[in-house]
Amino acid sequence: MLRRTLALVLTLAPSVAQAQLCEGQSAAIAPDGRAFGHLPYGDAAETELVALPSDYSVGNPCIVRRDILPDLLRLFDAAARDPAVMGQIKAMSCQRSIERQRGVFCRGSDSAADRAISVAPPGYSEHSTGFALDFAVRPSNGCPDAEACMAATPAAKWLRANAGRFGFEQSFPGGNKQNVKWEPWHWRWVGTTASAPGAARARFVFARARKLYPADPVIDPVMIKVAPPPKLYLKLPVIDVKKRRR
Ligand SMILES: [Zn+2]
Repeated sequence: MLRRTLALVLTLAPSVAQAQLCEGQSAAIAPDGRAFGHLPYGDAAETELVALPSDYSVGNPCIVRRDILPDLLRLFDAAARDPAVMGQIKAMSCQRSIERQRGVFCRGSDSAADRAISVAPPGYSEHSTGFALDFAVRPSNGCPDAEACMAATPAAKWLRANAGRFGFEQSFPGGNKQNVKWEPWHWRWVGTTASAPGAARARFVFARARKLYPADPVIDPVMIKVAPPPKLYLKLPVIDVKKRRR
């Protein structure tokens, strides 16, 4: 009987969801949808995407969500006029489809868990939304792209001090709770204010990320509201003492 009950329990137990990451390699999906701590993101619709003029980027054409283009162009314009960083900041990697992300994530021989510290698994990258991009520094002066040494460059310092004025916040600051390595080059757009055109959508897309893993620098920090415990009004039975004595 016990064995039959156990068999029944095992049959009815929910199986742990798995995400197919690379060929023959999958990852367990947490009950809240995360894989290796990364939150799930879908692809931006192609009709929502536009190309940044090539003068502003290096490598592949930089494709972004239409909503972020005005602020991104304003950021480049401000950086071009600032003698501290004139022309040094370029867009390097912008919207990446889930399929392209698979190509980026699945190369390399480290374990998927180790790779997830520096690259988001396919289906879990902010890049697929079109609201995030990586910046590069030119000339690179010996610091390879997407390396921590970027943080010490005038360009990265300028971004820390100014990107917020254009609606960008740094998704993966040093020591972030997500256990993703510090990425001074990776910024997501959430708009300077909640009412800026397109900002509500971006903030909706990144709502959980902003709450669980706050950016630094951050725009309009998402406050975690902790509701006070409900007050309990217990209705105790009234005992009629006189009645009892009788
Ligand atoms: Zn990135």
